[in-house]
Amino acid sequence: MDVSLTRDWVQNIASAMSRNQDHLTALDSAIGDGDHGANMARGFGAARTRLDAASPAATSVDEILVTTGKTLVSVVGGASGPLFGSAFRALGEALGEDSGPGAEIDARRFAAALAAALDKLQQLGAAVPGDKTMVDAYAPAVSAFRDAAQSGADFCTAARAAADAAEAGMRATVPMQARKGRASYLGLRSIGHQDPGATSTAYVFRALAEVAA
Ligand code: ADP
Ligand code: MG
Ligand code: MG
Repeated sequence: MDVSLTRDWVQNIASAMSRNQDHLTALDSAIGDGDHGANMARGFGAARTRLDAASPAATSVDEILVTTGKTLVSVVGGASGPLFGSAFRALGEALGEDSGPGAEIDARRFAAALAAALDKLQQLGAAVPGDKTMVDAYAPAVSAFRDAAQSGADFCTAARAAADAAEAGMRATVPMQARKGRASYLGLRSIGHQDPGATSTAYVFRALAEVAA
Protein backbone atom coordinates (compact mmCIF):
# COMPACT_ATOMS: atom_id res chain seq x y z
CA MET A 1 0.00 0.00 0.00
CA ASP A 2 1.24 3.45 -0.93
CA VAL A 3 -0.07 7.01 -1.15
CA SER A 4 -1.89 6.47 -4.41
CA LEU A 5 -3.61 3.30 -3.22
CA THR A 6 -4.64 5.00 0.01
CA ARG A 7 -6.24 7.87 -1.91
CA ASP A 8 -7.99 5.39 -4.19
CA TRP A 9 -9.24 3.50 -1.13
CA VAL A 10 -10.89 6.55 0.45
CA GLN A 11 -12.37 7.55 -2.92
CA ASN A 12 -13.67 4.03 -3.50
CA ILE A 13 -15.24 3.95 -0.02
CA ALA A 14 -16.96 7.28 -0.72
CA SER A 15 -18.38 5.88 -3.97
CA ALA A 16 -19.56 2.69 -2.27
CA MET A 17 -21.28 4.63 0.51
CA SER A 18 -23.11 6.90 -1.88
CA ARG A 19 -24.04 3.98 -4.20
CA ASN A 20 -25.38 1.99 -1.22
CA GLN A 21 -26.80 4.90 0.73
CA ASP A 22 -30.42 3.77 0.33
CA HIS A 23 -29.61 0.23 1.46
CA LEU A 24 -27.85 1.54 4.60
CA THR A 25 -30.80 3.85 5.24
CA ALA A 26 -33.22 0.93 5.01
CA LEU A 27 -31.13 -1.21 7.39
CA ASP A 28 -30.87 1.62 9.92
CA SER A 29 -34.59 2.39 9.57
CA ALA A 30 -35.39 -1.15 10.68
CA ILE A 31 -33.35 -1.13 13.91
CA GLY A 32 -32.15 2.47 14.35
CA ASP A 33 -33.04 6.01 13.33
CA GLY A 34 -32.49 5.70 9.58
CA ASP A 35 -29.54 8.06 9.23
CA HIS A 36 -26.65 5.64 8.67
CA GLY A 37 -26.74 5.93 4.87
CA ALA A 38 -26.69 9.73 5.02
CA ASN A 39 -24.02 9.68 7.75
CA MET A 40 -21.65 7.49 5.72
CA ALA A 41 -22.27 9.23 2.39
CA ARG A 42 -21.74 12.66 3.96
CA GLY A 43 -18.71 11.64 6.03
CA PHE A 44 -16.75 9.83 3.34
CA GLY A 45 -17.90 12.35 0.74
CA ALA A 46 -16.34 15.11 2.85
CA ALA A 47 -13.16 13.06 3.26
CA ARG A 48 -12.94 12.63 -0.52
CA THR A 49 -13.45 16.35 -1.09
CA ARG A 50 -10.71 17.18 1.39
CA LEU A 51 -8.35 14.70 -0.29
CA ASP A 52 -9.08 16.09 -3.74
CA ALA A 53 -8.05 19.52 -2.50
CA ALA A 54 -4.67 18.30 -1.17
CA SER A 55 -1.62 17.92 -3.38
CA PRO A 56 -0.76 14.22 -3.86
CA ALA A 57 2.97 14.99 -3.76
CA ALA A 58 2.78 16.64 -0.35
CA THR A 59 1.01 13.86 1.43
CA SER A 60 1.65 10.53 3.11
CA VAL A 61 -0.37 7.39 3.83
CA ASP A 62 -0.69 8.20 7.52
CA GLU A 63 -1.73 11.79 6.80
CA ILE A 64 -4.49 10.68 4.43
CA LEU A 65 -5.86 8.21 6.95
CA VAL A 66 -5.63 10.61 9.90
CA THR A 67 -7.32 13.39 7.90
CA THR A 68 -10.05 10.97 6.81
CA GLY A 69 -10.59 9.97 10.43
CA LYS A 70 -10.76 13.55 11.68
CA THR A 71 -13.19 14.44 8.90
CA LEU A 72 -15.50 11.56 9.84
CA VAL A 73 -15.44 12.58 13.51
CA SER A 74 -16.24 16.20 12.72
CA VAL A 75 -18.79 15.69 9.93
CA VAL A 76 -20.81 12.69 11.13
CA GLY A 77 -23.15 13.27 14.04
CA GLY A 78 -24.10 9.65 14.79
CA ALA A 79 -22.30 6.98 16.78
CA SER A 80 -20.61 5.71 13.63
CA GLY A 81 -18.69 8.96 12.94
CA PRO A 82 -16.52 8.99 16.08
CA LEU A 83 -16.13 5.19 15.94
CA PHE A 84 -15.12 4.89 12.27
CA GLY A 85 -13.26 8.19 12.47
CA SER A 86 -11.15 7.21 15.45
CA ALA A 87 -10.41 3.84 13.85
CA PHE A 88 -9.12 5.51 10.65
CA ARG A 89 -7.11 7.92 12.73
CA ALA A 90 -5.58 5.10 14.77
CA LEU A 91 -4.80 3.21 11.55
CA GLY A 92 -2.91 6.23 10.21
CA GLU A 93 -1.14 6.91 13.49
CA ALA A 94 -0.05 3.28 13.77
CA LEU A 95 1.49 3.43 10.29
CA GLY A 96 3.38 6.46 11.49
CA GLU A 97 5.78 8.93 10.04
CA ASP A 98 7.71 6.86 7.51
CA SER A 99 4.72 6.36 5.25
CA GLY A 100 5.43 9.41 3.07
CA PRO A 101 5.50 9.68 -0.72
CA GLY A 102 7.34 6.69 -2.12
CA ALA A 103 6.80 4.55 0.98
CA GLU A 104 5.35 1.09 0.42
CA ILE A 105 3.54 -0.53 3.32
CA ASP A 106 3.51 -4.31 3.25
CA ALA A 107 0.76 -6.65 4.45
CA ARG A 108 2.36 -7.42 7.83
CA ARG A 109 2.77 -3.78 8.73
CA PHE A 110 -0.76 -2.96 7.64
CA ALA A 111 -2.10 -5.93 9.66
CA ALA A 112 -0.52 -4.50 12.83
CA ALA A 113 -2.02 -1.07 12.12
CA LEU A 114 -5.46 -2.61 11.55
CA ALA A 115 -5.21 -4.31 14.95
CA ALA A 116 -4.52 -0.89 16.52
CA ALA A 117 -7.56 0.55 14.73
CA LEU A 118 -9.79 -2.26 16.05
CA ASP A 119 -8.43 -1.72 19.57
CA LYS A 120 -9.37 1.96 19.37
CA LEU A 121 -12.83 1.14 18.05
CA GLN A 122 -13.47 -1.27 20.92
CA GLN A 123 -11.99 1.05 23.54
CA LEU A 124 -14.36 3.80 22.45
CA GLY A 125 -17.51 1.82 21.81
CA ALA A 126 -16.99 -0.97 24.35
CA ALA A 127 -18.57 -3.47 21.95
CA VAL A 128 -17.35 -7.05 21.72
CA PRO A 129 -18.01 -9.56 18.94
CA GLY A 130 -21.61 -10.74 19.19
CA ASP A 131 -23.05 -7.35 20.23
CA LYS A 132 -24.37 -6.77 16.67
CA THR A 133 -22.21 -3.77 15.75
CA MET A 134 -19.54 -2.84 13.26
CA VAL A 135 -17.12 -4.82 15.44
CA ASP A 136 -18.76 -8.02 14.13
CA ALA A 137 -17.43 -7.22 10.65
CA TYR A 138 -14.26 -5.33 11.67
CA ALA A 139 -12.82 -7.95 14.03
CA PRO A 140 -13.01 -10.91 11.61
CA ALA A 141 -11.61 -8.71 8.83
CA VAL A 142 -8.61 -7.75 10.97
CA SER A 143 -8.00 -11.41 11.93
CA ALA A 144 -8.28 -12.59 8.34
CA PHE A 145 -5.89 -9.89 7.13
CA ARG A 146 -3.39 -10.79 9.86
CA ASP A 147 -3.63 -14.55 9.23
CA ALA A 148 -3.10 -14.05 5.51
CA ALA A 149 -0.18 -11.68 6.09
CA GLN A 150 1.45 -14.04 8.58
CA SER A 151 1.25 -16.90 6.13
CA GLY A 152 3.12 -14.78 3.59
CA ALA A 153 0.24 -13.55 1.43
CA ASP A 154 0.71 -10.30 -0.48
CA PHE A 155 -1.32 -7.18 0.29
CA CYS A 156 -3.95 -7.84 -2.36
CA THR A 157 -4.62 -11.42 -1.17
CA ALA A 158 -4.79 -10.32 2.47
CA ALA A 159 -7.21 -7.51 1.59
CA ARG A 160 -9.45 -9.95 -0.28
CA ALA A 161 -9.46 -12.33 2.72
CA ALA A 162 -10.36 -9.40 4.99
CA ALA A 163 -13.23 -8.31 2.73
CA ASP A 164 -14.64 -11.84 2.56
CA ALA A 165 -14.42 -12.14 6.37
CA ALA A 166 -16.09 -8.75 6.87
CA GLU A 167 -18.98 -9.80 4.63
CA ALA A 168 -19.40 -13.09 6.50
CA GLY A 169 -19.32 -11.14 9.78
CA MET A 170 -21.90 -8.70 8.42
CA ARG A 171 -24.27 -11.55 7.49
CA ALA A 172 -23.73 -13.15 10.89
CA THR A 173 -25.22 -10.06 12.60
CA VAL A 174 -28.71 -10.96 11.30
CA PRO A 175 -29.64 -13.48 14.05
CA MET A 176 -27.89 -11.50 16.81
CA GLN A 177 -29.62 -9.42 19.45
CA ALA A 178 -28.13 -5.92 19.65
CA ARG A 179 -26.35 -5.09 22.91
CA LYS A 180 -24.80 -1.74 21.94
CA GLY A 181 -26.03 1.37 20.17
CA ARG A 182 -29.56 2.40 19.29
CA ALA A 183 -30.58 -1.07 18.07
CA SER A 184 -30.09 -2.38 21.63
CA TYR A 185 -33.17 -0.36 22.71
CA LEU A 186 -35.24 -2.79 20.62
CA GLY A 187 -34.16 -5.80 22.66
CA LEU A 188 -35.35 -9.03 21.06
CA ARG A 189 -36.92 -7.09 18.19
CA SER A 190 -33.44 -6.31 16.87
CA ILE A 191 -33.10 -10.00 15.94
CA GLY A 192 -33.54 -10.83 12.25
CA HIS A 193 -32.04 -7.60 10.86
CA GLN A 194 -28.56 -6.98 9.47
CA ASP A 195 -26.56 -4.38 11.37
CA PRO A 196 -26.04 -1.17 9.35
CA GLY A 197 -22.57 -0.44 10.76
CA ALA A 198 -21.36 -3.99 10.07
CA THR A 199 -22.61 -3.49 6.51
CA SER A 200 -20.71 -0.24 5.97
CA THR A 201 -17.64 -1.89 7.51
CA ALA A 202 -17.89 -4.61 4.88
CA TYR A 203 -17.93 -1.85 2.20
CA VAL A 204 -14.76 -0.35 3.70
CA PHE A 205 -12.87 -3.66 3.42
CA ARG A 206 -14.32 -4.57 0.01
CA ALA A 207 -13.22 -1.14 -1.22
CA LEU A 208 -9.67 -1.91 -0.05
CA ALA A 209 -9.66 -5.30 -1.81
CA GLU A 210 -10.90 -3.68 -5.02
CA VAL A 211 -8.24 -0.96 -5.14
CA ALA A 212 -5.48 -3.40 -4.16
CA ALA A 213 -6.44 -5.93 -6.87
P1 ADP B 1 -26.60 6.44 15.27
O1 ADP B 1 -26.93 5.11 15.87
O2 ADP B 1 -26.07 7.40 16.27
O3 ADP B 1 -27.74 7.01 14.47
P2 ADP B 1 -25.36 5.47 12.85
O4 ADP B 1 -26.74 5.13 12.43
O5 ADP B 1 -24.55 6.26 11.88
O6 ADP B 1 -25.37 6.21 14.25
O7 ADP B 1 -24.54 4.13 13.13
C1 ADP B 1 -25.15 3.01 13.70
C2 ADP B 1 -24.13 1.89 13.75
O8 ADP B 1 -23.12 2.20 14.67
C3 ADP B 1 -24.70 0.58 14.25
O9 ADP B 1 -25.28 -0.16 13.20
C4 ADP B 1 -23.50 -0.12 14.85
O10 ADP B 1 -22.83 -0.92 13.90
C5 ADP B 1 -22.58 1.02 15.21
N1 ADP B 1 -22.48 1.18 16.66
C6 ADP B 1 -23.37 1.79 17.48
N2 ADP B 1 -22.91 1.76 18.76
C7 ADP B 1 -21.72 1.11 18.73
C8 ADP B 1 -20.74 0.75 19.71
N3 ADP B 1 -20.89 1.09 20.99
N4 ADP B 1 -19.64 0.09 19.31
C9 ADP B 1 -19.47 -0.23 18.00
N5 ADP B 1 -20.34 0.09 17.03
C10 ADP B 1 -21.45 0.74 17.39
MG1 MG C 1 -28.56 5.81 12.90
MG1 MG D 1 -28.47 8.98 14.42
